[in-house]
Amino acid sequence: MTDDDEFLVAFLAIAIDAVGIGAAIEAPLVTYDERCFPDPWQPTLVGVRDALRRMMVHLGMRDVPVRLSDLRNDLPTEGLVHEPVIFEGIEHGAACFEVHAVGRPEAMASWLALESVRAWAEYQGVTRSEALAYRVEPVADVPTRHRLDEGSATALAVVLGLGPVVAGGTIQTHVETTLASVGTRFESQTVGGLPPMAIARLLAFHTLVRAASEEERAQVRDALPLDMRKEHDAALDEYRDRAVVLREAVRLPPQPASGRRPLDLRPLPPVDGAELVQAERELPGRVRAFNRGRRVFRVVRRRTVIGVALGLVVGMVVFGLGSLGTALAMGGFVAAVLGGYVGGRSSRFYECADPDCSHRLSISHTTCPGCGGTVAGEIESAKHRLEAEERLEAVELATTPGAPTARDR
Ligand SMILES: [Zn+2]
Repeated sequence: MTDDDEFLVAFLAIAIDAVGIGAAIEAPLVTYDERCFPDPWQPTLVGVRDALRRMMVHLGMRDVPVRLSDLRNDLPTEGLVHEPVIFEGIEHGAACFEVHAVGRPEAMASWLALESVRAWAEYQGVTRSEALAYRVEPVADVPTRHRLDEGSATALAVVLGLGPVVAGGTIQTHVETTLASVGTRFESQTVGGLPPMAIARLLAFHTLVRAASEEERAQVRDALPLDMRKEHDAALDEYRDRAVVLREAVRLPPQPASGRRPLDLRPLPPVDGAELVQAERELPGRVRAFNRGRRVFRVVRRRTVIGVALGLVVGMVVFGLGSLGTALAMGGFVAAVLGGYVGGRSSRFYECADPDCSHRLSISHTTCPGCGGTVAGEIESAKHRLEAEERLEAVELATTPGAPTARDR
C-alpha cells in the first residue's frame, strides 16, 4: 500500500470510528437525484432550507429544525459559488446555517452535503465534548465555530452515505460566454478539502470495506466525473483481493453484514416559511442598493446610434426603389441617414453613470432606484464620473474636513 493510500485508509478508519461501526455499515447510499431528493428545488432560501433538511433526514436528523440567516449580497447565479452555505452551530436544538449565495443545484449539492455533515458532527458530539443529540434540554450556546476541516467532513460524508453527493460536485467548472466581449471566461474549483483523485480512491476503499452491492457500486461510479471514475476503478482493481486487509485496517469485521437501512423518503414535515419568503422578496432591493450612502451621477445619453441605424434602414428601402433614379435614391438615402442621426441626437435620456447600474433616471430622481446611490449631479459622459467625484470631494474636503468620500469602496 502506498503512503497516500495508507493515509486515506487511516482517514476512513477515523471517520468510521466517529460514526460507529453499526451506523457506518447500515448507512444507505445517497445520490444526488430525484430518487433521494424528491423535494422540488428552487434557487431561494426555501429551496436551500429544504435541500438541507433532506440531507439531514438522510443523516438521521429528521427532527432537527433548520434555521437560515440570509447573508447573500447577490441574486442567484449560474456561475460557481464558493462556500455558499456555512453551518454556524446548534442553537436551541436547531441547526443554524448562514446562506451566502445560491447557485445551480448541482453546484450547491456538495457544499450543502458537507455543511449538513458538519451539523451532524456537532449534534453527535464529534466536534464537542458533549453530544447534543440525546439531550432533553435545548442547547442555547452557539459554539465558537467548531468547524470540522473540509477533508474530515468529506471522509465523514463518505461513511455516512453522502459520498456520491460530495464526489459528484468535487470538480466544478463553469464557462461564461458574454455577448459584449469576444471570448469566454472559464472558472473552476474543487470542493471537498482533498484532491479529487484522493476522494475517488476513498470511495473505492469505502466500497470494498462495506462489501457494497453491484447496485451501490454503479451508483458511486455514475456520480463520478470521468477522471475520478477512472481513478476509482483503478483503486478497486488494485485492492480487489485485499478487502479483508482493508477491513482490518478500518476495524470492521472480516465479513460485514451488508444490510442497509432504507432511505427515508417521506415528505418533509411542513414548516413555516413566511420569514424566508419575505427575505426572498426583499433580496433584489437589498442587493441592488449597493451604492446606498454613496454618490452617483446622472449621465446624458442620446439615441444617436439607434437613429443612424434606423436612418440606414429607411435609406436602403428608398435606395432600393430603383425606378426613382439613382441620384434621387442617393439623395433619399443621405437624407434618411441624416434624419436618423438628427432624430437620434434629439432623443435624450438619463442614466445612472455607475456602469454596474446604468438604471434609467429622470431629472427629478434624487436617489437612483437601481443602486440606491444619491444623485449628486449631471455629467456629459460616464468618462467624467471620476473627475466629477474628485471635484466634489475637493469642495467637500475644503468645507467639511473628514467627510466620507464616495471612493471608499
Ligand atoms: Zn444607479
